[in-house]
Amino acid sequence: MDNCIFCKIISGEIPSQKLYEDDKILAFRDTSPQAPVHFLVVPKEHISGADDITAENCAAIGYIFAKIPQIMRGQGITNGYRIVNNCGEDGGQSVAHIHFHCLAGRGLGWPPG
Ligand code: AMP
Repeated sequence: MDNCIFCKIISGEIPSQKLYEDDKILAFRDTSPQAPVHFLVVPKEHISGADDITAENCAAIGYIFAKIPQIMRGQGITNGYRIVNNCGEDGGQSVAHIHFHCLAGRGLGWPPG
C-alpha cells in the first residue's frame, strides 16, 4: 500500500528494530515506548484497521495472537502484559495499518485515559 509507513517498514524501506518476522507478520519496537517493553505486531498484508477485519483476512489476526506470547517470553516477560488495538479517530489510531501494541515490564493502569 503506497504511503503506508508500516508497509514501508515491512518492505525494509524504513528501518525498524525487529523482534520477530515470518512470512505473515512482523513485530518491531515502538519508537515511542509507553512501557519498558513496547512493540507493535502487524500483519504483512495491509489491513487498514480493526474495522476492516473480514472472514477472508482474519487468519493473520489470530496468528498474531498465537505469536505474541512467544515474543513476550523472548523479551523475558513472565508477569503479564497488555495487548492494545486503537481503531479509528476516537480510538486514537494514528497509523492506518492494523497493529497491536504489546506492552509489558511495569504495572499498567486501568481504565486507560
Ligand atoms: P496508534 O496511535 O495506535 O496508531 O499507534 C501507532 C504507533 O506507531 C505509535 O505508538 C507510534 O509511536 C508508532 N510508530 C510510528 N512510527 C513508527 C516507526 N517508524 N517505528 C516504530 N513505531 C512507530
